[in-house]
Amino acid sequence: MDIALIGLGQMGSGMAGQLIDAGHAVTVWNRDKAKTEPFSGRGASIAESPVDAAQRGLVLTMLANDDALEAVTFGDEGILAAGPDILHISCSTVSVALTERLTEAHRRASQRFVSAQVLGRPDVAAAGNLSIIASGDATDLDRAQPLFDAIGTKTLRMGDRPVMAAAFKVAANFGIAAIIETISEQIRIAAAQGVSPAKMAELLVETNFGNRMIGVYGPMIAEERFEPAGFPLKLGRKDIGLAIAAAKGADLPFARLLASQMDAIISADGGTRDWSALGQPAKGE
Ligand code: NAP
Repeated sequence: MDIALIGLGQMGSGMAGQLIDAGHAVTVWNRDKAKTEPFSGRGASIAESPVDAAQRGLVLTMLANDDALEAVTFGDEGILAAGPDILHISCSTVSVALTERLTEAHRRASQRFVSAQVLGRPDVAAAGNLSIIASGDATDLDRAQPLFDAIGTKTLRMGDRPVMAAAFKVAANFGIAAIIETISEQIRIAAAQGVSPAKMAELLVETNFGNRMIGVYGPMIAEERFEPAGFPLKLGRKDIGLAIAAAKGADLPFARLLASQMDAIISADGGTRDWSALGQPAKGE
């Protein structure tokens, strides 16, 4: 299939590689053009602009945040200018408000739009093992399915409105942040009684209560292995903000606590380390 991918960051570059390996005719566009070079060497075409990319008919976006997705969609050379019938598959973790706005803007432009949220870090994306949570019109999801099959191992459908997958994703990421904070505090409690962080992490993984995230994040926290950042804390902070906004005023005391913990780390170091840095020893420990 002809597919364009916009956004060759940590996640998008792995996804583009999987689409190429699956035999699709892939076109890429990235704001920093240097990141497209490895893909031209692998047979991908390089688009001149987001609108040029979108004219391939199917365009998948994997961008940092709301501002980035707005720029490539609504900008002068944005996806909306690509003409009717194109399908925009939005994989970035963005606000429910922008997802609703995009749904309407694409409808008005006689274009199609689905939200396809991905679960998995950059190594999982590079291996083609993402889980995809998708929502939108069933015909559009069927059209996108071969691409989902290339980048992931499992696709779950949430419903017929794109905002449903967007809401799932911000709620899911709040859950992961809550687990990271829980592991961090468990390690600190045990450490206060002389248990080494590595031993505590090992036992938490061993008795993991069925939670895969303990296996991913326990060792990172125990070893204070926060770099390289597979998911920078500042992106995690964005997602907690998105979850609070999606809840429309419902009381989320734990989410507010996580937001303030993350704000403290961001003001100290910019939030460029992995979000497992929630587990860094608090000052004075
Ligand atoms: P990343 O490595 O920081 O890549 C961000 C991408 O967005 C880059 O291609 C960047 O282009 C582009 N971008 C940023 N601002 C832009 C703008 N104003 N206009 C055009 N392009 C812009 O981020 P990532 O880790 O790939 O994450 C991408 C999305 O997936 C985020 O929404 C994130 O929350 C979500 N996500 C991440 C993970 C993870 O573990 N990392 C997992 C699941 C979902 P340049 O190269 O030009 O800067």
